[in-house]
Amino acid sequence: MNNLDKLIEKFEKFPGVGARQAKRFAFHILRLNEKDTEDLAKLIESLKTNTKSCQSCQRFFSVNVVNDNYLCNICSDVNHDHSKLLVVASDNDITPIERSGIYDGLYFVLGGTAPLLESTSSSLRTKTLTAIIEERLKRDLSEIILAFAVNPDGENTDRYIISVIEPIIKNSAVIISHLGRGLSTGSELEYADPETIKNALVNRH
Ligand SMILES: [Zn+2]
Repeated sequence: MNNLDKLIEKFEKFPGVGARQAKRFAFHILRLNEKDTEDLAKLIESLKTNTKSCQSCQRFFSVNVVNDNYLCNICSDVNHDHSKLLVVASDNDITPIERSGIYDGLYFVLGGTAPLLESTSSSLRTKTLTAIIEERLKRDLSEIILAFAVNPDGENTDRYIISVIEPIIKNSAVIISHLGRGLSTGSELEYADPETIKNALVNRH
């Protein structure tokens, strides 16, 4: 297999990228000038060292200086309300919520959803989530908000996470809430407009 085929194969493994698109990406790279090719290669290489996964919410964030601080800007911000924990499926879901300006608590990125047709969801960070909840229970955790897409996978994830966290919060005053109506059926958080997210958060139940 030559390098072009190898690159195409790598692109095919990207989420949502099919064989045709993978080829288009590879040929696009072939047409780039030397400088752009070098920039792209360097960027990919540096991502692993300059981007860390936040120890608390698990989202990826850029670190400018290499230090021991593995908390992102949201988790390390004292102005964020540490008594609220909002659980989302992916990193991309946080941006529209932050942009809506209505939520001031902390987040947790589950790293995916629990698809309806799969019996196990081993790729989800449920162990980390329970560890974080257990830790916060000792402090001031009061509410866990589950914010998944309004579709069968999202609803299944919601049920699954409730079954995971209910046993650990049952002797506490912590409440589990869900986004309110406003998000239309089938909609994904990532693409919802700020106003819709605002309403869904205000009307959470
Ligand atoms: Zn964080």
